[in-house]
Amino acid sequence: MNWHDIVGNELAKRALEVALVGAHSVLLVGPAGSGKARLIATVRSAALQYFDGNIDMPHMGTQPLCACGHTLEVKRIAPRCTCTLADKDAHTRRLREVADAVDIVVVTRRPTYDELCNGEPNGERIEAVLKRVSCARQHPEPSWTLPEAGHALLRQAYNTFALTPYKLARIRGVAASCARLAGEPLGVPHIAEAIMFTMLRQEELSWGI
Ligand SMILES: [Zn+2]
Repeated sequence: MNWHDIVGNELAKRALEVALVGAHSVLLVGPAGSGKARLIATVRSAALQYFDGNIDMPHMGTQPLCACGHTLEVKRIAPRCTCTLADKDAHTRRLREVADAVDIVVVTRRPTYDELCNGEPNGERIEAVLKRVSCARQHPEPSWTLPEAGHALLRQAYNTFALTPYKLARIRGVAASCARLAGEPLGVPHIAEAIMFTMLRQEELSWGI
């Protein structure tokens, strides 16, 4: 199994790439069949082999969308799901707690039928990803001399989402890894990407149908 055999979930693939750069912990949340366990198993074994075991492997975990694991999409009724709305809410609360404790969280989705039949895998092999990771790890941590627009974005996230200083530090760490991957000084695009990766967005796990 290689990266390009896994259709879709490009965001999760990118998250795992960023995670490898800075050994950031990752949580993939998603339904059965969305490939989250396979993505992690693939990246773990390929990275260990590529780096000959000399890599700080990030902690990588998975969680289903609901406690019984049968929910495929939060906005659709799943006939086999045995969870009550209270069960779902309790599970979502737990997910939010776990998400708060990790650096990166991404919601995975099952590929659609058409994606499976016609979807062009992105064509990139995992070795190409690991080569980028290897280069990025050789770049030093970027300086935190941020442009004002970068500070403005972080300030807005800190205030809007009532972030803890701890969470803010995690965002900064992930942003640094994004910048190292790009081989660029830390800037707004890296901070924006890090904010996206470190937050479980409300709309992704809201049970309203
Ligand atoms: Zn369920």
